[in-house]
Amino acid sequence: MNEDPRRAIPRTDVALAAPEFTEATKRLGRTTVRAAVTAAQERARRGEIHPGEVIEAAAATLPVRTSSLTPVLNATGVVIHTNIGRAPLSPSAVAAVVDAAGYVDVEMDLATGGRSRRGAGALAALREAVPDAGDALVVNNGAAALVLATTALASGKEVIVSRGEMIEIGDGFRLPDLISSTGARLREVGTTNRTHPRDYLEAIGPDTGCILKAHPSNFRVDGFTTSVGHEELRGAMRPDGSPVPLVADIGSGLLAPDPLLPDEPDASTALRQGASIVTASGDKLLGGPQAGILLGDADVVTALRRHPLARALRVDKLTIAALEATVRAPATPVATALHTSADELRPRAEQLAAALGREVVGVDGRVGGGGAPGVPLLGWAVEVPADVVERLRTPPADVPVVLARVDDGRGLIDLRCVPADRDGDVATAVRIALGDADAPHPAQEDSGGIRGAELPGRPS
Ligand SMILES: *Cc1c(COP(=O)(O)O)cnc(C)c1O
Repeated sequence: MNEDPRRAIPRTDVALAAPEFTEATKRLGRTTVRAAVTAAQERARRGEIHPGEVIEAAAATLPVRTSSLTPVLNATGVVIHTNIGRAPLSPSAVAAVVDAAGYVDVEMDLATGGRSRRGAGALAALREAVPDAGDALVVNNGAAALVLATTALASGKEVIVSRGEMIEIGDGFRLPDLISSTGARLREVGTTNRTHPRDYLEAIGPDTGCILKAHPSNFRVDGFTTSVGHEELRGAMRPDGSPVPLVADIGSGLLAPDPLLPDEPDASTALRQGASIVTASGDKLLGGPQAGILLGDADVVTALRRHPLARALRVDKLTIAALEATVRAPATPVATALHTSADELRPRAEQLAAALGREVVGVDGRVGGGGAPGVPLLGWAVEVPADVVERLRTPPADVPVVLARVDDGRGLIDLRCVPADRDGDVATAVRIALGDADAPHPAQEDSGGIRGAELPGRPS
């Protein structure tokens, strides 16, 4: 008599043809929609939902976003963190990316219809921002810029580097290994704490390809130290009188000095002091897209641009667009976060604390991203139980992900890197995570997420 209700479960092809899925199939693709339908059919078979609800249930589980990358609110107080994509783009950079997403004249001169230099506008913006540079080139990231410079200038020859600058740039990538991979030989000079100009000059010979000065972005040696400035190496020559190019890897991407970060090198100063070429990242202190920026002597840049490797390290149009917008309008979220004072943060933290019934505490944030290791960014944070930090990472649907940090057993919500108009979203997410705090929760040895202890030291 009773017909098996499971017979009423719609077939997959019938379900997929439902008008509910027309737009979703275009946006997400048939495979994703089919997977949602299959899962809903399965639930109906198990009797968890009524067969008539399959389409509705499947539609409800479809992802909102077309990429699996999940936007997060950065309440860690660490401005540049590689695990969450380093620099957030400015609104003008985002607009430039959107404009460049379609067909765009990235390598075409619209006046003549002929080919133009790729990303000429971004290169012009860089040269305007750094008048000491004769020319500019953009590649995929800072490491690529360094590889291109050492390959073009020193493959089969020697790169002279101070032992005080044999840095690891994060995630196990070491500068010496990177350079050796280009076919150049490392010629180490000096000691970890002290290197003198004569150490470099005595190492120069007919086989010298270039001298490399790398900024030790993520650590500092204090005490009995001496390092050599660019000025002292300017004009260095091989025995035959040819100039030895000086490559300055400044890392952070500051184009001009920032008074807040007096120890951070910048491209303009490095070039004025005698660097032949500066290499830097686009997504650290510059606050733009991931990119490797090369600025310097026109003939050196030309040699790099003409090297076959340059083609393999070429950046895409979206990066070029975002970089030009960032350089022309440097009011980036990174700059805002860095320059927000403790006094400006305090009322925001107090408002959040009041909304949550918690306390504010004084904290120091970090620049992060391999920049300014010694610079604490004083501010205020809201203290929450440490296990809330973990729950904030995996909130219920429709609640934004908030990344906070754990410091000394306390959870800290730091609004420095949160856009001010999102404070309310942070409050909502934390309130929900706090509300869940009484629920039974497995004790965790290691949350595996962002933890205070590892943040300042995480270079890149
Ligand atoms: C970050 C950094 C790099 C690597 O740059 P990426 O853009 O991460 O490839 C190289 N050198 C220094 C000094 C750095 O700080």
